[in-house]
Amino acid sequence: MRIIDAHLHFGKEPYFDDIARKAQHENTEAHLRKEYARLGIVGGIVMGNRPVADVTTAYPSMLRYCVGIERFSLPGSGDWLDSAVREEALPLVEQHLKRKECVGIKLYPGYHPYWIYDDAFAPLYRLAAQYGKPVAVHTGLTASGDAYLKYSHPSVMDEAATKFRDVQFVMCHFGEPWYTDAAAVLEKNPNVAADLSGILEGKIWDFPAFYRKQKYYIEQLKGWISYLDSYDRFMFGTDWPLANLEDYITFTKDIIPEKHWDAVFFENAKRIYQLT
Ligand SMILES: [Zn+2]
Repeated sequence: MRIIDAHLHFGKEPYFDDIARKAQHENTEAHLRKEYARLGIVGGIVMGNRPVADVTTAYPSMLRYCVGIERFSLPGSGDWLDSAVREEALPLVEQHLKRKECVGIKLYPGYHPYWIYDDAFAPLYRLAAQYGKPVAVHTGLTASGDAYLKYSHPSVMDEAATKFRDVQFVMCHFGEPWYTDAAAVLEKNPNVAADLSGILEGKIWDFPAFYRKQKYYIEQLKGWISYLDSYDRFMFGTDWPLANLEDYITFTKDIIPEKHWDAVFFENAKRIYQLT
């Protein structure tokens, strides 16, 4: 089975080295290539954390990227709500979107105190629509304690997706752990898809024990995916280097019925991110 990893991070920060080791991986390009090849993962989409001004940014050949709109990657104050920042950043974002390697835009509400339906994002959504590239949005819990969860709750996507019907949104992490709310947003808004990354971390040494312990959580996740019955809108993603890749494939196979594996592991990401 061919697989696309629709959500990973690729960086040389020591922080990534540590979390990769906890997942029984090494945070190097060579190791990632080797593991992808071993597991049949033919490509991946980096949720970009590099400067927006770096318009010629290069990733390994099997990877594409979403240009990340986050404080430390933006010019000036880094605050998207600051009109001077937007004025400087928008033409740079457009330069990214013109590249074939850039397959979308990534937003990080929660980590940043902004509402993704704020009018300040309208020009960004217009660009996404113009270039026909999705906007991926962090939703659900955040890795850092100084973020505000009200901004990353999955329901924030409802207003953005309703106002901008011609934009394809991707709800990263399916709003984890707010699966009920995430399902409501997907059910109402046909222009919202979701990736299933960020649900595992580290290495799972004993799956039966893990499933026993997390029974309620996993039944909720499976139950709401099944309720939606929209297997054309879910994508496999690992959040590399956060989780063990092989575990992630096992886990995703356990929560998705086998007849939808090809869609969830490959076809949906290829179609939604228009990978060629
Ligand atoms: Zn991520």
